[in-house]
Amino acid sequence: MKCLKCDKDKFVEKSVRFSPEIKGEVLEVILPCMVCENCETPLVDSHQMNILRRAAADKYREQHNLLTSSQIIAYREELGMSQTAFAGYLNVGEASVKRWETYFIQDLSQDDHIRLKCDEAYAEFNYLNVYWKRHDPDIFSGNRKFNLQLFKQVAIFLVKKTKASIMYLNKLHFYADFLHFKKYGVSLTGVRYIPLKYGPCPDQFRIIYENLVGGGYLAKRNEKSFEALAEPDLSLFDEHELNTLNEIIEIYNSLGVKKIYSLSHKEKGYKETSECKFISYAFAKDLQIS
Ligand SMILES: [Zn+2]
Repeated sequence: MKCLKCDKDKFVEKSVRFSPEIKGEVLEVILPCMVCENCETPLVDSHQMNILRRAAADKYREQHNLLTSSQIIAYREELGMSQTAFAGYLNVGEASVKRWETYFIQDLSQDDHIRLKCDEAYAEFNYLNVYWKRHDPDIFSGNRKFNLQLFKQVAIFLVKKTKASIMYLNKLHFYADFLHFKKYGVSLTGVRYIPLKYGPCPDQFRIIYENLVGGGYLAKRNEKSFEALAEPDLSLFDEHELNTLNEIIEIYNSLGVKKIYSLSHKEKGYKETSECKFISYAFAKDLQIS
């Protein structure tokens, strides 16, 4: 084996920075590679080329929130399937699976399809999204269709402003929606509330918060509390809605979470709604807080 540039034949392994281009984007990857001892020219044989192509494809996938080759392999292995069986399960050709597990970048719809068939949480969130889109507004949603985007922004806002744990965040959500309904006849986000043992809670809040963590908007500080990694997009709210959000923070600052928590247990809507039923926004007129 000889160096293509200087014709010498001694090589050493070094970390080398490559800048391959994928779909018009220049990516940077650092890989171990044999280089010429004399002139440092990397020895890029077909084996090295395959490693580089896969590393570059994964870099691109990471930057575009697509599953990496290793994640796709992990999904297949969790299902205990061979590449052939996995291809059958996804209704694609076996060659596609082989390529996705190496250097070929799946497009967005293929990525979505793989997640839907392999990731329980993703599939469940998708199911809920369809359910929410189909569900018409009524008194249990505060006369407003559930708006996932708004709910997420309220969640980021509350985490950012209060650093309260999830048990308390639930109460702040409850008061934000119910106070807004009391004032304007519509809830803030259209979310439904259920009376759990530890107070009124937004329906499916766990899955929504998990989704915010998965999307990189929140990070878990521990099992019960979060840290905001993004700013809430307040441009999505009108003036009345912003007032309600600020009012909740004022209430939080003046009463403290423990007082809000105990008040929420005394709310008529909470006490008079049986388990597994939604709390009617009609109870907003009886709120203990104002
Ligand atoms: Zn050389």
